[in-house]
Amino acid sequence: MATALCPGSFDPVTNGHLDIIERTARHFDDVIVAVSRNPQKAKSLFTLEERQAMLDKVTDHLGNVRIELFTGLLVDFAQDLGAQAIVKGLRAVSDFDYELQMAQMNQRLTGIDTFFISTSPQYSFLSSSLVREVARFGGDVTSMVPKTVGDRLAQLFDSSGSGKEA
Ligand code: ADP
Repeated sequence: MATALCPGSFDPVTNGHLDIIERTARHFDDVIVAVSRNPQKAKSLFTLEERQAMLDKVTDHLGNVRIELFTGLLVDFAQDLGAQAIVKGLRAVSDFDYELQMAQMNQRLTGIDTFFISTSPQYSFLSSSLVREVARFGGDVTSMVPKTVGDRLAQLFDSSGSGKEA
């Protein structure tokens, strides 16, 4: 059984993430989406549990995908779950430096390999942080996130464009 981990903070999950998860699920027997509180991102919009619930819903059609929360080192989590690979999406050259460094560090720590999938071009501009910012000011993000996420964002922010939470 080849198991892959797709890690990230998914705050919230976007169509770009979902594309990577779906493509990973075609190549591995089991896929675990590992939701972390990113220590570099001080303030998150959704709780870990909310992010997990949204991911659960939007991956419901994928029988070999499950969602887990984790804290601590990703490589320790991978070992605990018996995962052999980490899979990440690469959007642009700007992702590359950091991702390469992380992949090499993770390799050094436990020998786990990281596989990169190039983003589908229609999602290369897409990030959770931009979606949060656009939604906060009343912009239309419906084509960028699954419907359930769009609905949650609309609930959360008022439509006045004030940037205040509803
Ligand atoms: P992080 O909190 O580590 O920045 P994210 O939740 O933003 O993680 O993203 C998780 C993973 O999904 C990362 O590997 C990232 O490169 C990838 N990813 C994010 N957005 C996209 C996208 N639009 N297309 C492809 N991959 C993406």
